[in-house]
Amino acid sequence: MARRPGIRLRAKDQLTEIMASYFSGLGQADREGRPVAWCTSVGPAELLRAMGFEVYFPENHGAMLGATRTAEHVMPLAHSQGFSPDICSYLTSDIGAFLAGMTPLTKSHGLAHVPMPAVLVFNTNQCREVKDWFTWYGRKLGVPVLGIHSPRGLDAIDAELVAYVAGQLRVLKDDLAPIAPVPFHLQALQRTMALSKQASVLWRECLETTAASPAPWTFFDHTIHMAPIVVLRGTETAVSYYRSLLEELRALASTGQGAVPGERFRIYWEGMPIWGRLRALSELFSERGVALVASTYCNSWILEGQDPQDPWTSMAETYLSIFICRSEAFKQAYIIEKARELTAGGFVFHDSKTCPHNTNSRFGMPQRICKATGLPVLVLEGDLNDPRCFSLEEARVRIEVLLEQMEEQEGAP
Ligand code: SF4
Repeated sequence: MARRPGIRLRAKDQLTEIMASYFSGLGQADREGRPVAWCTSVGPAELLRAMGFEVYFPENHGAMLGATRTAEHVMPLAHSQGFSPDICSYLTSDIGAFLAGMTPLTKSHGLAHVPMPAVLVFNTNQCREVKDWFTWYGRKLGVPVLGIHSPRGLDAIDAELVAYVAGQLRVLKDDLAPIAPVPFHLQALQRTMALSKQASVLWRECLETTAASPAPWTFFDHTIHMAPIVVLRGTETAVSYYRSLLEELRALASTGQGAVPGERFRIYWEGMPIWGRLRALSELFSERGVALVASTYCNSWILEGQDPQDPWTSMAETYLSIFICRSEAFKQAYIIEKARELTAGGFVFHDSKTCPHNTNSRFGMPQRICKATGLPVLVLEGDLNDPRCFSLEEARVRIEVLLEQMEEQEGAP
């Protein structure tokens, strides 16, 4: 029994409600002058929530600009400020939208504008771009920009590195104190970390249900249902949401209900979503019986290493351990292992033009993975938000070739 691609899981209604409540809460905080902190997507949201901030995530806004295909209209405004068209198209979309005085949140949630920040907090564990992005707003709006500088490209996470980042987290807590709505209390941080950990475990368990064949949901669903683990980490809402979603997914898996009609191929998607083309790609894959069963991108918010009993060290270690912060060798081993667990028979590497950090096809990894696993690999040129970098027609042809290779492998003795 199969459902249409772009699947409407029952949990989608609950998702719509909680996202509406999250954004209307931000709008209300903005109107009432309550402090809103802007945070990078793998920044210290648990600390900000523990100190009473409403937390807003510009990358989530960037993804909305991509998904609504607004990005292409506003990016030129950021380019005209000197931001190269070759750098992060989340950054150029978001700053472009700000300069244009528009946001998709007006249509979707009735916000006149994005909530104004009292402070901007980054972590460079994902890239340097987030610091430049927030620094631009800091200058423009005259608000403080605080952050964590994380080393990247890591093989192992040793005690020295962890201590370096843990020290910065403690300093951040002190620097936030004069701006924060409530004083820092260790118990409050322990509570948000415990909730963040619980939501992370549930999110991982949800993603792991794609091990079932047929898979009850795919990468395209993951990109929609990941919203709470990004923007509501450290809240009861996220925990409760992923509990319901997991129950639904397990029920679908146990009764053999797949997201893709007649699932025939299982593929690992490595890299970022192409936000403006999610539906078209979902249909393209689904019509060919392809389930995208895994992605490192959506796994990136499994932040279950947090230990409320050892908050600073475990938070530092958890946020240093994320995939994007790791070495090429670590990433390669991780991808091969995940593909094996989820029985993927091929790989698509998205070479995302404006995000080198979430692109892992530029230093020979696809070739090495192909050699190590014997499975076919396709590198697809595209971008997270910039439509000039992606051709659906070209993708269609290249995906057909990949599927022929997978078919030949199936038939091989
Ligand atoms: S990781 Fe990539 S997409 Fe995300 S903010 Fe950094 S450059 Fe942009």
